[in-house]
Amino acid sequence: MDSPDEQVEQGMPERIDAVRSRIHAAADRAGRDPDTVNLIAVSKTKPPDAVREASECGLRIFGENKVQEAMAKIPESPGHLSWHLIGHLQRNKAAAAVQLFDMIHSVDSLRLLETLNRLCDEAGKTMPIFLEVNVAGEGSKYGFKPDELPTLLPDLPGYTRLECRGLMAIPPYTPEPEQARAYFRRLREWRDRWQDDTGIPLSELSMGMSGDFEVAIEEGADWVRVGTAIFGERTKR
Ligand SMILES: *Cc1c(COP(=O)(O)O)cnc(C)c1O
Repeated sequence: MDSPDEQVEQGMPERIDAVRSRIHAAADRAGRDPDTVNLIAVSKTKPPDAVREASECGLRIFGENKVQEAMAKIPESPGHLSWHLIGHLQRNKAAAAVQLFDMIHSVDSLRLLETLNRLCDEAGKTMPIFLEVNVAGEGSKYGFKPDELPTLLPDLPGYTRLECRGLMAIPPYTPEPEQARAYFRRLREWRDRWQDDTGIPLSELSMGMSGDFEVAIEEGADWVRVGTAIFGERTKR
């Protein structure tokens, strides 16, 4: 017997439709054009078949957090997709990352900036990047400390092979999306202030995941990184 509260298992097309309507609704609430919100389908731990199915529903941008996994998955996936790195990058994997990815959301140290700029120069590539900010000052999280960025930003034009799009953050996990709002707002306010103070453009914000992307959009997210709400739960690894 089915219990009355048992959920009917949704397929991927239904889940993607639901994510898209939630993006539209959140953009409407914020008075924003929904087309300015870019959806990254976070396919980490999911097989190439899942990527293919999502791509058949019209998704084009996929996010991975591990170079090794992306290296195996990308050649097995449809060829017309764009791949974004969203996880911490070790410098010994940076050369591979430069080859594999079209954008890196998780640049979290000065040394990584330097390494990526050099490798992109050698590869004759320009890489769009985001600077990851440790928005809650958590010891367990990667990212620049907020107080080191205003002094670093004026040096960015020297990294001629990197095109800084803006700031990225992963707020502390909470079961209640409203509790993430203050962190998203803080990232936007820092962005506005640093941009004014340094004259360095930081036009885009990469923030919001399955649990909180609507709040992130209301607070100005240009890129949301959504895994579970598209692909279903991940098995622990
Ligand atoms: C896994 C991951 C996501 C997606 O998380 P979901 O909660 O499954 O949507 C987004 N951003 C980063 C950096 C991630 O590692």
